Amino acid sequence: MHDVVIIGGGLYGSSTAYHLLEREPGLDVCIVEPDPGFEHAASARSNGGVRILFSQAESIQMSQYGHAFYAAFPDAMAVDGEPAPLDLFRRGYLIMATRPEQVADRSANLELQRSLGCRVEALDAAGLGAAFPSLRTDDVRMAVHAPDDMWIDPYGAAVGLLRKARAMGASLRRARVVGVESAGRNVRSVRLDDGAELAGEWLVNATGAWAPELCRLVGFEVPVVPLPMMVYYFETRAEIDSFGVTIDQGNVGFRPEGAGFISLIRRLDLAGQFRWEADPDLFEARCWPGLAHRVPAFESLKVMSSYCCHYAMNRFDGNLLLGAWPGQAENFLIATGASGHGLQHAPAAGRALSELILDRRFRTLDLSRFGCDRVVENRPDPERGFTA
Ligand SMILES: Cc1cc2nc3c(=O)[nH]c(=O)nc-3n(C[C@H](O)[C@H](O)[C@H](O)COP(=O)(O)OP(=O)(O)OC[C@H]3O[C@@H](n4cnc5c(N)ncnc54)[C@H](O)[C@@H]3O)c2cc1C
Repeated sequence: MHDVVIIGGGLYGSSTAYHLLEREPGLDVCIVEPDPGFEHAASARSNGGVRILFSQAESIQMSQYGHAFYAAFPDAMAVDGEPAPLDLFRRGYLIMATRPEQVADRSANLELQRSLGCRVEALDAAGLGAAFPSLRTDDVRMAVHAPDDMWIDPYGAAVGLLRKARAMGASLRRARVVGVESAGRNVRSVRLDDGAELAGEWLVNATGAWAPELCRLVGFEVPVVPLPMMVYYFETRAEIDSFGVTIDQGNVGFRPEGAGFISLIRRLDLAGQFRWEADPDLFEARCWPGLAHRVPAFESLKVMSSYCCHYAMNRFDGNLLLGAWPGQAENFLIATGASGHGLQHAPAAGRALSELILDRRFRTLDLSRFGCDRVVENRPDPERGFTA
């Protein structure tokens, strides 16, 4: 019998293992992961963005922990004295609002962000144009810029955190969970696709976009679906500014990547399905016009590569679902539904799960706002302003 069986070894699973073992080094933690090289995990394929530009205090605080966690990553995740390399680009987040209602949201959020110690500035069209001369700004009503925000190499983070959790004592079982055995109201064990059974005092469903399948095996439905996200890498020969993560709210976003840029298309029309290839024609129809509108230099660009991966999209309110499901097994904890902002919150969510297991309550940061009871009680609690 393991103390904790963690299903899924992406950032949420590994972060949970890391935080458990940091506090209780002798704990018997087993991570079940069929794909430890992360060919398909969102964690390794994400945009890697870490921002404080949220409207909910808890999300800002989770990102602040994410900032500190990833900044300290190379040394904190070192194994046998060998640092864990993690590329980190602190070039800021810029979100532009073009509609009046977006401006109202932005202004309210600014006050909260500043009250929590975040460095964030509001720019009007003239200020924006002066700071980023490559942008078209005549239709921008307001922009917010968080200069300390960043993006990281998501693959390095996923691999480094799993490696560290294993070095701290977590065992890795390379298999897929295909069944669940219950005893009374609790879950007793999971069945693997190699025929073995693993028992655990606690079980954590950290399978991201696959999490609904496991919840169904236990007997409940979560309002989460895989949402195909098509990612395009493009290059331009034109000279343009040094950008950070740049979002034209409601239209397009992009950030630098190597010698070029990446941009995403969310396929709401394919919500609920897994797709692994990006549609090459879609970039031209849905992405390029918006990019060229906002950055005229992008009129000339070339798509060099593309791929598709998945948000664990919470259709209820877009936010994380954390903890046990009301009325279901109390020892089966879930962490899914963080949609497009889960990488930055994985350190804090893993720490929170470790507290639910070791303390039976949140200790460092109260994340009850993201509890699953809000779904059962029909209290959606979405972000206000920019959502991803
Ligand atoms: C295109 C894209 C861009 C993104 N950009 C950002 C961003 O800029 N900033 C940000 O904060 N977030 C971003 N995200 C979101 C973020 O990547 C995810 O929220 C986060 O990585 C989810 O981590 P996870 O560990 O829950 O899931 P995953 O990383 O998907 O890991 C789940 C793991 O579970 C395993 N698994 C599945 N089924 C089973 C099973 N039955 N048994 C055992 N294991 C199983 C899988 O193999 C997988 O490795 C983005 C996501 C995408 C897709």
